[in-house]
Amino acid sequence: MTRPYGFQFDNSYTHLPEDLFSRCPLQPVKAPQMVLLNRDLAGELGLDDEALDSPAGAAILAGNEQIDGSDPIAQAYAGHQFGNLTMLGDGRAILLGEQLTPDGARRDIQLKGGGRTVFSRGGDGRAALGPMLREYIISEAMHGLGIPTTRSLAVVATGESVLRETALPGAILTRVAASHLRVGTFQYAAGRQNPALLEALVDYTLNRHYPDRQPADNPALTLLDAVMDSQVDLIVHWMRVGFIHGVLNTDNVTLSGESIDYGPCAFMDSFDPDTVFSSIDHQGRYAYGNQPTITQWNLSRFAETLLPMIDEDVDSAIEKATAIIKSFSERYSEKWLAMMKKKLGLFGDDPVDEKLITDLLEWMKVNQADYTNTFRDITGEHFPAGGFYQDDAFINWHQRWQARLGRNSKPLKSSLCLMRNHNPAVIPRNHRVAEALTAAEQGDLAVTSALLNALADPYADRDPDDSYRQPPAPEERVCQTFCG
Ligand code: AMP
Ligand code: MG
Ligand code: MG
Repeated sequence: MTRPYGFQFDNSYTHLPEDLFSRCPLQPVKAPQMVLLNRDLAGELGLDDEALDSPAGAAILAGNEQIDGSDPIAQAYAGHQFGNLTMLGDGRAILLGEQLTPDGARRDIQLKGGGRTVFSRGGDGRAALGPMLREYIISEAMHGLGIPTTRSLAVVATGESVLRETALPGAILTRVAASHLRVGTFQYAAGRQNPALLEALVDYTLNRHYPDRQPADNPALTLLDAVMDSQVDLIVHWMRVGFIHGVLNTDNVTLSGESIDYGPCAFMDSFDPDTVFSSIDHQGRYAYGNQPTITQWNLSRFAETLLPMIDEDVDSAIEKATAIIKSFSERYSEKWLAMMKKKLGLFGDDPVDEKLITDLLEWMKVNQADYTNTFRDITGEHFPAGGFYQDDAFINWHQRWQARLGRNSKPLKSSLCLMRNHNPAVIPRNHRVAEALTAAEQGDLAVTSALLNALADPYADRDPDDSYRQPPAPEERVCQTFCG
């Protein structure tokens, strides 16, 4: 059998109970046109990037042509949205199939903005070009930063308009994910009051994402433990680079541990744990500094769905699940401290470490110092330049840090190397993303391409004057981000 474009689908999700998804026809659009194609990712997936970069390729990634082996579905899920449980499902995302990659991985290939599904509720099933490009840029930035994330294979313009507050150009994003299993998938299954559904999901998720954790005498508990570890790792990464997801609802928490759903997310410029960008997050529920706590809350919702499988005896099930949920704080603190020590180039353990870290963060907060640049500026052999650092409190902190570095178990060279690999020079700053999107909406993709280039190698040395390293000038500052 020929495999055009290199697609090789094996759709394991469609073998799960039919309650969990709905088959849906592809919905052609008027005039598909390739806007961005991620050739590197295409290669990793075993796809023919050359062939895909064509009108025929655009037709496939718009849903105008169905690929052999594709069995399009929309997945069902529920979710706590800002604390309220809602029945959802892919309202505008159609899973084309699971691509088996040359290196043996399985990746969901999904069209986001692919049209209405049975889960669309009042929505049009479509997406606008700006938000899809935004997801492309941020997800690829996360990948460049070494953070587990869904990826973006392409953005295709549809040639149709979508009506939001105004008419906007429509587009479809091809999203690539380890899977689209979410905490919300389990909440949906639990809501169906059908134990077989949950059992099938636990088994499927362990097989797909945690094959090394099997066999387990208590699969549900094993899964909870494994997902917690992945989520702790993920949130620690977010805290490391100053990422704020913005809509950390349970349907946006994957079981694979990948970041997903780049809506009103943003990277923090000046350090403040209370930072919120999302226009819909009025209470700061998903503020930068709340992300660990809210993740523990989300995992508690996950644990609740698993209770019947953890133990027949309810009290005993609760006790076992609670023990894991309670361990979140310790697991998180330990990994957060280890991460922050890497940002400061600290090897070994020293009683001063934690205070050294929190004092620097406090100084940054008081002085509204740029989070990314402060860490990168100290990633060098010299005292950081700039009037900002002449502050007595900073000089004092710097002396204490130098003294601690002197007690390191490894040479300074190793510290600098460690710091360079954990403190990015370039992040997708809001004002640069906004600038790229504005140009793209006017048909100029050069700004986006240049930004993507810089983001592909975020730890490389860059001149302090490099434009991608500059925080926004007051008039450039983006204070609010919106859902797409
Ligand atoms: P989100 O806030 O992006 O996590 O989306 C929440 C839910 O709304 C998901 O079920 C989405 O698929 C659905 N949704 C978002 N936008 C649309 C749209 N334009 N049409 C239909 N469903 C949508
Ligand atoms: Mg979502
Ligand atoms: Mg979204």
